[in-house]
Amino acid sequence: MSSVRMCDRCGNIFSENSEDWSTFNGTIMRKDESGRRVNETVVQDACGNCTNGRNPVSPRLALPKGSVDPARVAELEDDLGMPRSGTGQG
Ligand SMILES: [Zn+2]
Repeated sequence: MSSVRMCDRCGNIFSENSEDWSTFNGTIMRKDESGRRVNETVVQDACGNCTNGRNPVSPRLALPKGSVDPARVAELEDDLGMPRSGTGQG
């Protein structure tokens, strides 16, 4: 019996027998109860589509909620050539 994995990018379930999937190490920056920064090492899997960039993922700026004016975020996204994330005008 072959094992299955879940893609950490798109949530696809895929078989370990399928082609082109990848696995890699990453680090998550967290804070513990006392507010100290802890680096947590994680192993992430990506399905073949994500590995080959065939899965369209729209980039988003990851900013803490409420820390930045949404209008400013839209400006930043424009500067970076990202699609608008805000409610669409036009
Ligand atoms: Zn995927």
